[in-house]
Amino acid sequence: MTQLADFGVYIHWPFCQKKCPYCDFNSHVRDTVDHDRFGAAIITELTTMADQFDMRGRTVHSVFFGGGTPSLMPPEIAGQICTAIKTVFHPADNMEITLEANPTSVEADKLAAFRACGINRLSMGIQSLNDAHLSFLGRQHSAKEALKALDKARHVFDRVSTDFIYTLPDQTTAEWLAELDTILGLECDHLSLYQLTLEEGTAFYSMAKRGLMQMPADEISLDMFTKTQQRCQAAGLNAYEISNHAKTGEESRHNLTYWRAGDWIGAGPGAVGRVWQAHGRTETRCRKHPDSWLDDVTKKGAGIAEQNHETRIEYAAEAVMMGLRLREGFDIAAIEQKAGARQTWLDEHAVSLYCEQGLLHLNDDILTLTDHGKTVMNTLIGQILI
Ligand code: SF4
Repeated sequence: MTQLADFGVYIHWPFCQKKCPYCDFNSHVRDTVDHDRFGAAIITELTTMADQFDMRGRTVHSVFFGGGTPSLMPPEIAGQICTAIKTVFHPADNMEITLEANPTSVEADKLAAFRACGINRLSMGIQSLNDAHLSFLGRQHSAKEALKALDKARHVFDRVSTDFIYTLPDQTTAEWLAELDTILGLECDHLSLYQLTLEEGTAFYSMAKRGLMQMPADEISLDMFTKTQQRCQAAGLNAYEISNHAKTGEESRHNLTYWRAGDWIGAGPGAVGRVWQAHGRTETRCRKHPDSWLDDVTKKGAGIAEQNHETRIEYAAEAVMMGLRLREGFDIAAIEQKAGARQTWLDEHAVSLYCEQGLLHLNDDILTLTDHGKTVMNTLIGQILI
């Protein structure tokens, strides 16, 4: 039996110093930001949502400040939001509170102030240890600055995760593996290693469309992915999710809530939340533009642009898509309890076929991907869902 998902709170802080050319997150560059106003509005929206979805007093296991660049936020604003979360909900004893940070926005004093206001895990977007690649990715830090920032962060936080991006144009497997060895030498407890993808609407996407940059061939990407998995595993960092590697016990509790198709409330411009209610799961999507969102929160208490009620089949599809990303897989019987009989959403014949082909593994109703299956995950998901 896989573990049940916890309940989490996601806070979106939508401001960045500069827009990165690969990024399709809801991030905005501003000369000035009224931090107090945005912080207060996030608290108002959280409170409204807690009432609307009858969530007051529910035990919160994790909070995640994402963005954007939430480390640009004054620590006292993050502290006020943490205090509000602890008041509106019931904080679990070991509640995980993660803040995403850029190496350029984490002076030591500020980190200590974030720690003092309750943040207990830092997720640092280093992205590369190669200065030419950092410049290509539009990042504002050098490799040296990133390592310095990481060192500071580890002095302040017990739990620090780092993000890196690979499969860049012209990057060779040997080049990436040499960088990965350096990264593994840093002995981080948690690593997020993402392959660069071209998201519609980004600068990279239009450059690629105009033939100005070319992504590595699929075989090269696959080779890099497979070798990355092997090296991380050998270094004691388990791929508990397809792109996330951690020492045992250091997994991101918050992200596990997403992958286990759990409940979370999402507040802030562009934030998404999903909450299970008697009739099924409700998805909330907040307005993306910071000013429109702020206006709505001021007038109505929340800036929800869309409120979608998922059908049971849609919930099952999401739970399968997310669950297969996890090494622990998903429990068919657990999804059935919410989504109804498996025959209505799972193609059991396809599952048997792919188990025989060594792409899936089924044991006691727990379905997982094999190592070979991980390389064709998206195709498999499409085939096993009805
Ligand atoms: S810092 Fe992060 S959120 Fe901001 S633009 Fe770059 S990738 Fe996007």
